[in-house]
Amino acid sequence: MSIGNVRVRYAPSPTGYPHIGNIRTALFNWLFARHSGGKFIVRIEDTDQSRKVEGAVEQILESLRWLGLDWDEGPEIGGAFVPYFQSERLDLYRGYAEQLVQNGHAYRCYCSSERLAQMRTEMAERKESVRTYDRHCRDLSAGEQSKLRAQGIVPVIRFKVPLDGQTTFHDLIRGDITFDNAELDDLVLLKSDGYPTYHLANIVDDHSMEISHVMRADEWLSSTPRHVLLYAAFGWTPPLYAHLPMILGPDKSKLSKRHGATALLDYRDEGYLPEVIFNFLALLGWSLDDKTDVIGREDLVKHFSLERISRTAAVFDIKKLQWMNGFYIRQLDPARLAERALPYFEKQLPSEVKRPLDVGYVSQVVTLQQERAKTLCEFPQNSAFFFMEDLEYPKDLLLKGGMTGEKARELLSATALRLDSVTAFDVTSLESVLRSLAEQMSVKTGDLFGLLRVVVTGRTAAPPLFETMAVVGRERCLKRVRAAVQRLSDSPTR
Ligand code: GLU
Repeated sequence: MSIGNVRVRYAPSPTGYPHIGNIRTALFNWLFARHSGGKFIVRIEDTDQSRKVEGAVEQILESLRWLGLDWDEGPEIGGAFVPYFQSERLDLYRGYAEQLVQNGHAYRCYCSSERLAQMRTEMAERKESVRTYDRHCRDLSAGEQSKLRAQGIVPVIRFKVPLDGQTTFHDLIRGDITFDNAELDDLVLLKSDGYPTYHLANIVDDHSMEISHVMRADEWLSSTPRHVLLYAAFGWTPPLYAHLPMILGPDKSKLSKRHGATALLDYRDEGYLPEVIFNFLALLGWSLDDKTDVIGREDLVKHFSLERISRTAAVFDIKKLQWMNGFYIRQLDPARLAERALPYFEKQLPSEVKRPLDVGYVSQVVTLQQERAKTLCEFPQNSAFFFMEDLEYPKDLLLKGGMTGEKARELLSATALRLDSVTAFDVTSLESVLRSLAEQMSVKTGDLFGLLRVVVTGRTAAPPLFETMAVVGRERCLKRVRAAVQRLSDSPTR
């Protein structure tokens, strides 16, 4: 296949919000398309009406947009093979199912769900391996069929899987894979409500949308022999297959919610950068070499190859993701970081803080915390004191390390005078003024600075004191110092 003919698709079913595993599939397809100058198609496989989840399509598209996985054909933009929602292509599938009945590759099955359930129970009782179907209707005559139809039974259409022989296909990651046909059941292609099953719709669309490579999670591997047989029944050439390795949690069990694998957009809400998720997901089952962790979008497009997709399961390590997010945060220019953190501040700061926030001020605030933060959410979480007018904190915090109320009041009153009179309210001046104050009042600098930290921030741990004070500003620092003096003068219970 010439490289320009690559057409790959991401074909999610809107049965839930997309998670890490789903989007890793989308990303690998996108990378492969962009690397090879091909097309990335999004197709929504929404034929299972009973499992449809409200809002899932929007979440899927929003997840792709958030990561910058633009699609060349699909929802919202259309393309040469519209529509891209399977629920709008039902006639096509019905026609193809009928075609297979006509040419003897499929048949109508009239079995009720009760009969099927009973059949399975009996199989289990006989200790046979339980099959989904015993082929009861495979050879019904036309006469028998019209009798059943006359009773008002609406049949399904099942595929006539060859009874013996083997089906082999080549997987670009795993090599040749062979299944015994005897292990495959006569799967349903068209349900009695006229909706296709996943298998029929999926291969009809892959064929009619001229998909060149099917890259999907390896949980679909056992469906592939069925698909290959269906292609043969239609006389079509199957696409090339690449089944992506499973993603495991750090405890080596299949990745699940308890490993932090929630909906992809939860990572956005928790303050992960999209370029980090992009980088991190690309390495879940693919690698550039044995050592590269941090690799940007353009390099990924440049170097992505099917050859370097691993056969073995990938391990999702949230610690590594956190580390990577912190690493990317540290690389950002503070102004840019502030812009990106701004929506998190707007959302998370206490409601009494006036909006809209000043991005220049936010930039000063984030600069003080850039070294340590692992997510964008941590900035507003640790920063309310930069924005509030009045602080609340337990009075005990003022009396740490043997500090008496009287001493603290004395120190803070003297501090207020200095803060009021210092010419420039900047780091250097604040440091020199406060150091000399400590000396003059015969108190350890650590004690004075610790006290001031509580007064200015309401907490015992905060970014460096003088930098913080310079950002909070003279007026608010003074107000806080005076409020503390007042508090220390009030009755001891307050
Ligand atoms: N609709 C299937 C899914 O949700 C697509 C599987 C495939 O790519 O063939 O994963």
